[in-house]
Amino acid sequence: MSEASPSPSAALAERVAALPAGPGVYLWKNARGRVLYVGKAQNLRARARSYLRAGGDGRLRMPAMVEQAADVEVVLTPSAKDALLLENELIKRHRPPFNVRLRDDKQYLGLRLDPRERWPRLTPVRRFRTDGASYFGPYTSSQALREALSNLRRIFPLRSCSDAVFRDYARRGRPCIEFEMKRCLAPCVGRVEEAAYAELVAGTALFLRGRSGQLLKELQTRMAAAATAERFEEAGRLRDRIAAVEKTLARQQIVSERGEDRDVFALARQGGELELHGFAVRGGRVASHDAWSFSGVELDDAEALGSFLGQYYGTPDRVPPREVLVGLAPEGAGALAELLAERAGRRVALRVPQRGAGAELVAMAAANATLRLAQRLEARASVRAAAAELQERLGLARLPRRVECYDVSTLAGTLAVASRVVFEDGRPDKAGWRRYRIREAAAGDDLACLREVLARRLARHEREPLPDLLLVDGGRGQVAVVAAALRDQGLACDVVGISKERDEEGPASAAGGEPGSARALRVKRSGGLKAERLHLPGRKDAVLLPPASQGLLLLQRVRDEAHRFAIEFQRSLRQRANLASILQEIPGIGPGKRRALLRTLGSLRAVREASPEQLAAVPGVGAGDAQRIRAFFADLERLAAG
Ligand code: SF4
Repeated sequence: MSEASPSPSAALAERVAALPAGPGVYLWKNARGRVLYVGKAQNLRARARSYLRAGGDGRLRMPAMVEQAADVEVVLTPSAKDALLLENELIKRHRPPFNVRLRDDKQYLGLRLDPRERWPRLTPVRRFRTDGASYFGPYTSSQALREALSNLRRIFPLRSCSDAVFRDYARRGRPCIEFEMKRCLAPCVGRVEEAAYAELVAGTALFLRGRSGQLLKELQTRMAAAATAERFEEAGRLRDRIAAVEKTLARQQIVSERGEDRDVFALARQGGELELHGFAVRGGRVASHDAWSFSGVELDDAEALGSFLGQYYGTPDRVPPREVLVGLAPEGAGALAELLAERAGRRVALRVPQRGAGAELVAMAAANATLRLAQRLEARASVRAAAAELQERLGLARLPRRVECYDVSTLAGTLAVASRVVFEDGRPDKAGWRRYRIREAAAGDDLACLREVLARRLARHEREPLPDLLLVDGGRGQVAVVAAALRDQGLACDVVGISKERDEEGPASAAGGEPGSARALRVKRSGGLKAERLHLPGRKDAVLLPPASQGLLLLQRVRDEAHRFAIEFQRSLRQRANLASILQEIPGIGPGKRRALLRTLGSLRAVREASPEQLAAVPGVGAGDAQRIRAFFADLERLAAG
């Protein structure tokens, strides 16, 4: 008879005891090999052991994680800094549930300016690259970026057109509307000298780097020189630019008269709920704010902050300023400081300021974090109350904390699509959002479309566990489809349908029954609406909740998002379809020439960006055709730019 195998915790303790004592990264895994948590340590064995024993205060380190852990794996690294880099990499790769993970779906928008171009321009980008160009930002919303860009264009009228449009207008010998609107100096037709344009580019970069003091000084010197030389028009233009810069600056909060560059971070916490607030001070002014929320955090504050900062500065896109101020010393501060210096190519001070302006900045970040955390907890409490109301009034088996909602959308009986949105505790969980092209069902048959989407979703139930509630935009027909799809797979889940009712519709007619009819009876979202009706499987009559019901408002919000998401998808498909057929719109370009263009140049985009010479080199396409194609795309770009 073989010896009894040791209990999992004894086996784990044995494994931990055999770990090396050097620096590196450790990965806790569950019995199925899923990575639960990734951490770094100077002494791997000692750190791993600390999870299995209570500390001096009698508390276990990350007990919920340890309870699930069945194995620990380590990777030795030459130094603590290398461990930090590897830890970031592994967190990104494995997305462990117990790590504080910076979400990589948060998009960092920025502006790119490449001074090596002859006539540089600012272009919005979603990635910061190391390609020799200058990048500014990040802007945390596209609205913030658009505002900044339109502001900048008024102060620094750099060209906004693509190279193809630039060439096109240069050929025509006249500038586009941007010139008339005083938003471009029209380098395309030589209305501005290269040296003057280069000054504009330099001014833009100074402004975006927060060097506004230097910029204003330079502008004032040039204005005085222009006035002395009696170049009054130029002096007037410079005066206007100074005024515009000053107006923009007046809107930014000044936090230091000495004009330093600093990043500031502080956190607030309640149990496992953690809120981090940060702001970037550039040239003494607050250039941007950002906030990050984390739930179910088992790490202590120093560990959480250390892990966050390691990931935040771990990307090559982000160059740290000279000083990073924090509310408490992060774990692994030494390795972090090394990493920051490497990223910046100079020394970076990572410090916890005790007094003075630095301490005030940290206090400001902490106050913001505390406020946001309080708002988040309050919002969550009201969402939980709304979920409890729904559970009680609708007789749901589970508290609907995680809700998945489906919406089918067709366009005049064509282009059928569907969307799925997921909300947890009233907040969108975008990682779970999906868009579906309907592959098999007829586009006009909404119930068949829904059946197809549900079959695709439920087939993945092992990888993607079911939510607490499946919500569907529709009436009894839709609810019956979802309930049948669940039955087919032997699954159980609460199902609710939500539909609007018109005055003239009675409950029976609104419920419908024939495939597609319930959808046909559903009404547009504006005009003639009476109430929202909730439908439950096997129940003939709809449930009407009071319009002010928090539970109802929660479901409406989720449904509206699903609808918006589906429509957005449909719109983009329509645009793509239009794009594909766009060549048909160009006069004189028949099917033969269209095929030749696409075959020779490879894509519609290549056709769009090709020069007249490249177009004319396509077999069967003449110089006149090439001119027509270029003019057509130039007009299109102008239209798109508004
Ligand atoms: S085409 Fe318009 S935006 Fe481009 S350089 Fe000329 S005037 Fe400026």
